[in-house]
Amino acid sequence: MTAEKAKQEAAPPEAAKRRYTPKLLIVAGASAGLLLVGVAGAALWLWPKAPDAAEAKAARLAARRAAVPASAPAALPAPTPVAAAASAAEAAEPQPSPAVVAEASLERLQRRLGEVLGPKGAIEAGRSGELRLLTRSSSVAPVRDVGNKAAAEPTSTQDGRPTQAATPRTGPWSYSGLGGPQAWGRLKPEFSQCAAGRRQSPIDIRDGIALDLEPVQFDYQPSGFSVIDNGHTVQVNLAPGNSIEVNGKRYALQQFHFHRPSEERINGRQFEMDAHLVHKDAEGRLAVVAVLLERGAAQPLLQTVWNNLPLEKNEEFAARAPIDLNQLLPTDRRYYTYMGSLTTPPCSEGVLWLVMQQPVPMSAQQIDIFSRLYPMNARPIQQAAGRMIKQSN
Ligand SMILES: [Zn+2]
Repeated sequence: MTAEKAKQEAAPPEAAKRRYTPKLLIVAGASAGLLLVGVAGAALWLWPKAPDAAEAKAARLAARRAAVPASAPAALPAPTPVAAAASAAEAAEPQPSPAVVAEASLERLQRRLGEVLGPKGAIEAGRSGELRLLTRSSSVAPVRDVGNKAAAEPTSTQDGRPTQAATPRTGPWSYSGLGGPQAWGRLKPEFSQCAAGRRQSPIDIRDGIALDLEPVQFDYQPSGFSVIDNGHTVQVNLAPGNSIEVNGKRYALQQFHFHRPSEERINGRQFEMDAHLVHKDAEGRLAVVAVLLERGAAQPLLQTVWNNLPLEKNEEFAARAPIDLNQLLPTDRRYYTYMGSLTTPPCSEGVLWLVMQQPVPMSAQQIDIFSRLYPMNARPIQQAAGRMIKQSN
């Protein structure tokens, strides 16, 4: 039975549905009680909180269910704990039966589960003929979404109902869950590069060609700034007047922001954090200077930024004192360089990356402060795919 179950779970959705159809027919028979008790028992154990109007919900869901074609096969959500418990309770081997009986059985199963669960949850028949358990708990395991790894992480809507993972996702991007990096390319048409791009960032920097690279010329000066928590990171916007020159081109500094842990890796090594200094030239091309941040002494410029953290997200906090970005640069200005992309949607390519080789220290306390806001906001490593990496001798 274990091997059989494994096969069922590995099977594509259609096959899974076919396999489950006879199972539901069994419910019409003598073994229904076992299954119901198993599901209900698991539900009671897993989800102690209750929806307010399970019955009203069940009625609404039954109405929704009526829109489903009578021949639609039924399936239980496969990888949830409830389904796992149900699998343990299900003893019967599949037996063939007409689809119309399955439909009637499904209705009855749905009704019976609703009765047994009482205030602990409600059963919804999904559009594709599967049954979903609805509860109020935020720790609810997600419904099945075959083929979307990001959707396998626990998630729920604000009213506590499990998110319907089968619904096309147009929500905000994030670093985990349904809007996580694996899904970025599908969230919006303009994010397609996140999935289809072949020169993406970040990468694990290794096997660079050591050369006498021209140093990056940093023309930074004390500048007024404001801090914003944009929901993805802490970003510092600067007054104009800061720029770099590299490869004979001048790029003006737009903003800088942080990632934890570092997005860049050097020979596989990841750092506590990094700072990305985003510059743009007259034609709109981007050059990003990455400063790796490691645990050590306190970093005065970062402390100034942290001191000016806004209380609210998406509200810019204008600082009263200026900052001098020279303070954030390492003393050794050697760097790695390669062509990549933005590391956040829309993942646009054609970005010149300049990664400083020497990490800059910041204190554990300073790292902790950022961690409280963003414990993890680093995009996973992308394929270098044979791109040339150069590094200063
Ligand atoms: Zn960044």
